[in-house]
Amino acid sequence: MPLRRKPHLSIGHWLGLAAIALLPLAAGLPLLGWQAERNLASQSRFQAAQAVAALERVLDNAAAAAQALAALPGQPCEQAVLELRRQVTGNPYVRSTALATPDAVYCTSLQGPYSEALAAGDFVAGRLRLFAADRVTPGRALLVYRHPTTQGSALATVDAEHLGNALAVAEPGSQLILKVGPAWLKADGRVAANEPPRFEVGASMAASTRYPFSILSGYPRSATERQWLRDAPILALLGLLGLTAALGTYWQRQRAGSQRQELERALAAGEFIPFFQPIVASDDGRCTGLEVLMRWQHPEDGLIRPDLFIPYAEGCGLIVPMTRDLLRQTAAILAPQVPCLEAGFHVGVNLTAAHCEAPTLVEDCREFLEQFPKGHVQLVLELTERELIVPTAQTLERLAAVRELGVKIALDDFGTGHSSLAYLQQFQVDYLKIDQRFVAMIDTEALSRHIVDSVIALCAKLGLDVVAEGVETAAQQAYLASHGVAYLQGYLFARPMHADAFIDYISNARPEAKQLASCAALG
Ligand code: C2E
Ligand code: CA
Ligand code: CA
Repeated sequence: MPLRRKPHLSIGHWLGLAAIALLPLAAGLPLLGWQAERNLASQSRFQAAQAVAALERVLDNAAAAAQALAALPGQPCEQAVLELRRQVTGNPYVRSTALATPDAVYCTSLQGPYSEALAAGDFVAGRLRLFAADRVTPGRALLVYRHPTTQGSALATVDAEHLGNALAVAEPGSQLILKVGPAWLKADGRVAANEPPRFEVGASMAASTRYPFSILSGYPRSATERQWLRDAPILALLGLLGLTAALGTYWQRQRAGSQRQELERALAAGEFIPFFQPIVASDDGRCTGLEVLMRWQHPEDGLIRPDLFIPYAEGCGLIVPMTRDLLRQTAAILAPQVPCLEAGFHVGVNLTAAHCEAPTLVEDCREFLEQFPKGHVQLVLELTERELIVPTAQTLERLAAVRELGVKIALDDFGTGHSSLAYLQQFQVDYLKIDQRFVAMIDTEALSRHIVDSVIALCAKLGLDVVAEGVETAAQQAYLASHGVAYLQGYLFARPMHADAFIDYISNARPEAKQLASCAALG
């Protein structure tokens, strides 16, 4: 097939293909990134809330121990110390307990009598304080819960190990920080009082409603990369999708591009030529016109039928320049034959919807008619009923302009489409061409003939001139003539033929024209 050759793809095409291949990834990456950050943020909020709950449970124990000692502040240490120790052994998270006057600790469960300055103001909301270490276990952080009483306060301490455990609920890669006032503690048990680190991804904060502490949670930037790794199958799928789309487009473009390039080459090489099929009057059989039918004179494949290449030409927008070229060739062939053509000789040209919308239509018709003596040739534009033209203001305006030039409109393949009376009126159709499938019914049984009869009757009702296509038998000719069909076209009279053959045909068909010197010279 002539439309199979491979085209050359330009750099622009390759760039386009690369863009198609990368499009799903380019669109998917930000989406996945956004999704990854959303996941991390929600995970971060969740684990902060979990850590708050875990620490509240720990502090509940400390608070219970301190509350149990509420009656002891002010009492001598020797009397109270036993109860202090009992609270330590009775509460799982409590490391030690102590009693304090309003400004100093005076008794602890670990050492008995003791002395260290301590004021209510050292505690956040007077209740909670995070210490980097104490004298007993230097280097080991602790959280102190304070229960104020009229005589001072009862204290319960929680070891950093328990705090660390509560913070260890964090997912690997994430971090949790316990913040009590300005002091903060990480899962490694170290306390600091400077500005806590800022998390790059999913930073969130959850505050306890029952104790004056909060939990900061978040991830370093590297966590998003890990999330990317988790999404690797989706990324691979997106990549594959892009690749498939690019390959599909490449294949499609190869096909369409090869078709277009081959048609362009053939057009430039003048391989699309007109064949002419006579149209005769049904009463006396004289040739009153012709239909121009395009052929592709291919250098290797020979003569190619229009239905094998016209759909591609329509698809890639080349049908308009091809038809214009056909009109020019037809005018150049027929103009010298004017003496052999009867006045008002019909030249039917097939027109696609695309051409009706083309701005050059009026100029193309004018240029064609200018090649003939005024009024000698009747140009007829054949619009097929199978492809109804959208009656836009622009199309109607263009068709009105060509009608002003004296061009007529024929509705081709009449009976095969869905045109209504309103449609025929809108386009001011002058001729109807009855499709050959109805003509073929004439030779068949009575039922099918009814269909032909009704199509002919419909044409008569519309009051339009009628051409019957595909007349192959004398019986069909007689039937159509007797039913008032004025013009006939078909193999019975002549097949579509090369220009040279057509010139011979009209010279022989009009012997009286041969008398004219110019026609005889041509004939
Ligand atoms: P169409 O416009 O309906 O043209 C009539 C077709 O019927 C022609 O086929 C012609 O050869 C064929 N034909 C004529 N008399 C007989 C007959 O007695 N028996 C049979 N079986 N067939 C007959 P062709 O030349 O192959 O053209 C096919 C179609 O291609 C045309 O149908 C038309 O729709 C399209 N076409 C042809 N040339 C052009 C063109 O220049 N432009 C456009 N847009 N379409 C064209
Ligand atoms: Ca036609
Ligand atoms: Ca037709």
